[in-house]
Amino acid sequence: MKIEVIKGDITKIHAEVIVNAANSSLLGGGGVDGAIHRAGGPRILEECRVIRNRQGKCGTGEAVVTTAGNLPAQYVIHTVGPVWNGDEEKSSKLLSDCYRNSLQLAENLGIKTIAFPNISTGIYKFPKELAGKIAVHEVRKFHSDIIEKVIFVCFDEENEEIYKKLLNPSF
Ligand code: ADP
Repeated sequence: MKIEVIKGDITKIHAEVIVNAANSSLLGGGGVDGAIHRAGGPRILEECRVIRNRQGKCGTGEAVVTTAGNLPAQYVIHTVGPVWNGDEEKSSKLLSDCYRNSLQLAENLGIKTIAFPNISTGIYKFPKELAGKIAVHEVRKFHSDIIEKVIFVCFDEENEEIYKKLLNPSF
């Protein structure tokens, strides 16, 4: 899989799937979640409600899929990142689950391009460097014959620097 790093707003990205750093209620929140629901329109929330009524809350590390509404993407995969509480081992495993489960869902949907935000590194306060290492590690070890490209969409310069460094083969 090809890996790209872009600095920008994930709601503007032309990928078949964009990933949302949701919360377990699936009913919207701040940060990238708020931006996705604002730009994508009410159909995304309607589908989130249907999922909630069917399965209850979305557990940390799990992922579910909805329409992308008015966004340029076809689908939004909503995954719930861990809130950083200092338990590095547990939080790291849960963040790995987010990336792996999202990639698996994208593969099941048969899509070629998926864009990730820097899950958990905003309101959930996961250390950015560690989160970047986990994200890159999980993507690199996920072998897919279907997904061709993974885009890491960084919203802030610090994350952009971290990802560029992690993906630069000379480091
Ligand atoms: P979490 O609760 O998982 O920490 P946040 O939405 O607060 O979720 O932050 C996750 C990451 O998404 C942060 O790095 C934040 O800077 C970034 N982010 C916020 N808005 C956008 C956006 N429109 N596009 C891409 N990334 C965004």
